[in-house]
Amino acid sequence: MRDGTSIAPITLRGPAEEVVPGVARVEILFVNAYLVGAPGGPWVLVDTGLPVLSAALIRRAAVKRYGDRARPEAIFLTHGHFDHAGAALKLARGWDVPIYVHPLEMPYLTGRSDYPPQDSTMGGAIAQMARLFPDAGYDFGDRVQPLPEGSDIPGLENWKPYHTPGHTPGHVSLFRETDGALLAGDALATMNLDSWTSQLTRERELHRPPAPFTPDWEAARRSVETLAGLEPSVIAAGHGLPMTGPHVAEGLRNYAGRFSPPRTGRYAARPARADEEGVRELPPPVPDPLPKRFAAGAAAVVGVAALTLARRRKRRRG
Ligand SMILES: [Zn+2]
Ligand SMILES: [Zn+2]
Repeated sequence: MRDGTSIAPITLRGPAEEVVPGVARVEILFVNAYLVGAPGGPWVLVDTGLPVLSAALIRRAAVKRYGDRARPEAIFLTHGHFDHAGAALKLARGWDVPIYVHPLEMPYLTGRSDYPPQDSTMGGAIAQMARLFPDAGYDFGDRVQPLPEGSDIPGLENWKPYHTPGHTPGHVSLFRETDGALLAGDALATMNLDSWTSQLTRERELHRPPAPFTPDWEAARRSVETLAGLEPSVIAAGHGLPMTGPHVAEGLRNYAGRFSPPRTGRYAARPARADEEGVRELPPPVPDPLPKRFAAGAAAVVGVAALTLARRRKRRRG
């Protein structure tokens, strides 16, 4: 599903923009965090952006929306990747609030496990950029607490959490039945993460979760089906601009029907397996053509430079 009418180049924003009443998006480079709760009332921070820049941008947006003494009831993480959990500990300590995650996400936020190694061999923009990103977990100690399954998130009583694994084992999306608003985290994206052009334009389009960090595609597909079954009227995801309008539910249903995992890559045929303790079993790595190509390119550059230098010296001597 495309909506070519709304293209916005990537920026370092900060101050939040209201998506629907009670939900404001804070954009931090290429990822979104959400301030959930109407001004004047209790609120919760959903996701926290990157380890850099994000704490200050989120605090500034929170003060603008909720006033000088802005302090959330809690921080909720859809999952623990570095671009969603990056500023969580800093913000949680500053505000003295708990961080909630799904129990299956706990190992990666309490120092017990790293995420499965990222796999960039399927290619595409996000895969190449992912080579620079970490896949290590965090240790937030007792700041982070598991959200008991089926229970409400404190401060988010009118939102229902849905376990949407695949991208990570304990990934959670949030849905508000009253207006059909869906906070999808990285269960899906609203831009084509694999396209270099879309990294700049962020044209709205339903797209699979960030591929290099998704180690279970069958679960990811089922999660998109779960979300399609909710028939949302608004989709606000971790990456991309929010999608709203009467065709969103139908678009998501169609998208779920044609959901396409990468055809190649480490996790294409077999998933990584994880449990309450973290990653248990990994499929074997697959050959990565890029380092070899890069090494060959670098060798050629060094060779040409050495040859030029040698020639110059010879000329000077001669
Ligand atoms: Zn992620
Ligand atoms: Zn992400």
